[in-house]
Amino acid sequence: AEEQLRQAQKMEAVGQLTGGLAHDFNNLLTAVTGGLELLAARIAKGKYDQLDRYITMAQSGAHRAAALTQRLLAFSRRQTLAPKPTDVDRLIAEMKDIIVRTIGPSIDVNVVSAPGLWPILVDAPQLESALLNLCINARDAMPDGGKLTIETTNRPLDERAAAAQDLPAGDYVSLCVTDTGTGMTPDVMARVFEPFFTTKPIGEGTGLGLSMIYGFVRQSGGQVRIHSEVGAGTTMRLYLPRLMGKHDLPVPHEVSVARHRA
Ligand code: ADP
Repeated sequence: AEEQLRQAQKMEAVGQLTGGLAHDFNNLLTAVTGGLELLAARIAKGKYDQLDRYITMAQSGAHRAAALTQRLLAFSRRQTLAPKPTDVDRLIAEMKDIIVRTIGPSIDVNVVSAPGLWPILVDAPQLESALLNLCINARDAMPDGGKLTIETTNRPLDERAAAAQDLPAGDYVSLCVTDTGTGMTPDVMARVFEPFFTTKPIGEGTGLGLSMIYGFVRQSGGQVRIHSEVGAGTTMRLYLPRLMGKHDLPVPHEVSVARHRA
């Protein structure tokens, strides 16, 4: 019965999702067709001034429609990713300033990493946006301040340990974002990956952050795990598969240029 209820909730979310999208998409198409019709009418009348206005109207509608479908693709796991060898610790170090600025002075930020973190193969800009999103969620869970910890570790998973995480056995890099915030009830935890599920006030939450992160991480061969306790805080853990093969580290630009010339 519980499974049925969950299924029903999922279908409801899908219904809301498709309904909302169809509506937005339709509005954008109206801008495109409207712009083209006005353009055609002007040309038919032999009036060639102001044509650029209607062209711009159609173009901007088309661009926004493309951006909308792009966002959809992100959680349908069919977005085009550009995975590159990536050093997650370096990525975190490069983002520390923006994270601190985004979450504000009332939250203490700690970065913990063990030396010798394995490189991974990932779309780095997507991982950056996932990390920032997790930090923003952590901030929102700590309205009165608190502590945010970003921690990376190497995680070899044998057959059994991997099966428990719904992953194939192998080596993974774990990236954890932990907060000392409100935590989540089991009901909330069960729904956080649903597109448009949010507990935040209208205008503040889109409910898309975690569903997009989930889609991206699954498409990258990894997994997202949540540990949360009401009143204590939340840990969001991303497992990302270790990069295997010869190219152990991100190749510095000069080196790759030199190689091509050789
Ligand atoms: P949004 O942040 O727009 O609500 P998300 O998909 O990122 O969308 O998150 C969905 C919901 O999951 C949030 O509204 C919140 O209820 C819950 N959530 C996410 N991260 C945390 C966290 N670190 N602590 C407590 N609740 C969280």
